[in-house]
Amino acid sequence: MNNRSVNKNKRWIRPLTERLINKIAAGEVIERPAAVLKELVENSLDAGASRIDIIVEKSGTKLVSVLDDGCGINPEQLEIAFSRHATSKISDFNDLDNLLSYGFRGEALPSIGSVSRTRMVTKTAETDSGMEIFIEGGVVQSVKPAAVPNGTKVEVSDLFFNTPARRKFLKAESTEARYLTRNAIALALGAPDVRFSYKINGRKLFALDDQHRELNKRAKALLMGNSKEDLIEVISDSPIMNLRAYLSSPENVRQNQNSLYVFINRRFIKSPSINHAVRFGYGELLPKGNYPIGVVFLEINPGHVDVNVHPTKAEVRLSQERQIHDIVYQAVKRTLRGEPSLFQTRVISEDSESERLTAAEAIRRARAYKPPDQAQTEIKELYDNKKTETDNSRKEGFGQSTNKTISPKPADDTLQPPAEKMDLNRLIYLGSFAELYLLFKEGDNLILVDQHAAHERILFEEIIKTMERGAAVSQNLLFPVNIDMSPERYELYEESKKILSTIGFVVEPFGGNTIILSAVPISLSKKSPEKMFDSILEDVENLQKAGYELHKAVAESMACRAAIMAGDRLTEEEAKRLFRQLLKSENKHCCPHGRPTFLNISRYELDVKFGRK
Ligand code: ADP
Ligand code: MG
Repeated sequence: MNNRSVNKNKRWIRPLTERLINKIAAGEVIERPAAVLKELVENSLDAGASRIDIIVEKSGTKLVSVLDDGCGINPEQLEIAFSRHATSKISDFNDLDNLLSYGFRGEALPSIGSVSRTRMVTKTAETDSGMEIFIEGGVVQSVKPAAVPNGTKVEVSDLFFNTPARRKFLKAESTEARYLTRNAIALALGAPDVRFSYKINGRKLFALDDQHRELNKRAKALLMGNSKEDLIEVISDSPIMNLRAYLSSPENVRQNQNSLYVFINRRFIKSPSINHAVRFGYGELLPKGNYPIGVVFLEINPGHVDVNVHPTKAEVRLSQERQIHDIVYQAVKRTLRGEPSLFQTRVISEDSESERLTAAEAIRRARAYKPPDQAQTEIKELYDNKKTETDNSRKEGFGQSTNKTISPKPADDTLQPPAEKMDLNRLIYLGSFAELYLLFKEGDNLILVDQHAAHERILFEEIIKTMERGAAVSQNLLFPVNIDMSPERYELYEESKKILSTIGFVVEPFGGNTIILSAVPISLSKKSPEKMFDSILEDVENLQKAGYELHKAVAESMACRAAIMAGDRLTEEEAKRLFRQLLKSENKHCCPHGRPTFLNISRYELDVKFGRK
């Protein structure tokens, strides 16, 4: 009886107390000391600070202190700042679309206040005296005047003192210190015009002053240690976005991915897609398992960036992720190889004006910035037609022929005369070379075709058409196969199963993370079905990470898996048919990953090479 009444009582629905809500939210926003550092510094930046001093003790479990010379908080608003969803930064929903300040949820201070002992002192220029507030476990202990300079200092002590589970969840001190330092570096990179100092566990890790107001100098000071080497500047202005990056030379790389800092509109973000684009731009210049060091700054119309995806705002959603990926990739690739940029480039001199952009000016410009729609479609077309990305991090099959990423140069007529002018009646098959390249003669031209890349292109376009028409041809398996998958793989299968069925896979769930595969697309019927299915899902996963749309990722993977490989021998008839079909493709010059499908070398070019002309 007694038990029952207790239970009944427990099930009673009541609003949570504000203190409890804050404590719960803290679990989301304030995962670890590094998050406290980030939230406090972002508040300082939003307050227009020109200098910020950070001190961390015991990797943040004892103290995270942030001092700024920003606008401060009005005395009567001090307590409100610590109440939930109180923010001075947005007032209506439309503001969310044009977000340029760091904070906007009004969650950080109440969350931090609820899981620590927090002292804040603050003074605005308008008041004579400052104020001090002390909060312990979400309860305001005292608010009183204090004699302090303009600006704000927040000291967060004993983080998670009242949430032992959270505290236990923290990693080793050295690991937490790494997270903290990474955030401190990122914040200092993101605001080059602000002076920063950072001291952790008794060591002063950096102090950036007026010498480091330019992004390149700041990046060098923060990222390159004692290296004398300058970072390589990559600049590309396009209607979609402005890109500015400083990257290490291929000789100066790291074994982990953490040394590349990516920013969108000055906000430090995690972006597998942009990381990929940069790495991919290095291409074969980057030894396997190595990653570049550097900083990537993207300025994108805020309306195209959705930052409200995750409470810590580290993840953003981009409405044109794919194009952005491609622009970054192209710019990095061309710069590292000394090729001219596709877009107008500008050389920034040491004292150029744009280097000295204040945060306010950058915000003003970004606000004023609106990509012309028409230009945008042009760019989209450019990229759709002349896609030149490849992923050499992908498994065998993709990188078959070579790891090198050579961009097709449609503009260069000596190498690739318009195929339309080719007279296919004059086509003579000369044979194959290295069991990969098919050699043809056409009039005065020598044509070399990469058989895998060519077949991939043909299949890719066929598959896309099949998807559009929904008319796949399947081959039933004699013995349906059960495939066990990891939970993540299963998720991916769930997500892509519709598309997989439009191209001819017949799959049914079998319970748990198991599926039964009973038919495969006819083009794949000669290969081991489970392996094929598994590798397609794996490719799709990687391609999606690289920003591909699902249906293109599936088509690309299928095309690659089904295409003839290096080593497959073709008869003369098959070779000719392949080349003819290739020429009928919409985008014949490159395979779906952007490698050239064929090269056309003219007699004239050979004569020049042999010194006859
Ligand atoms: P948000 O940053 O999302 O608005 P916070 O909880 O981080 O929410 O901060 C609440 C409010 O407190 C801010 O909107 C701002 O007005 C004020 N504030 C916080 N930190 C500072 C600071 N360092 N300087 C000036 N004002 C601050
Ligand atoms: Mg904030």
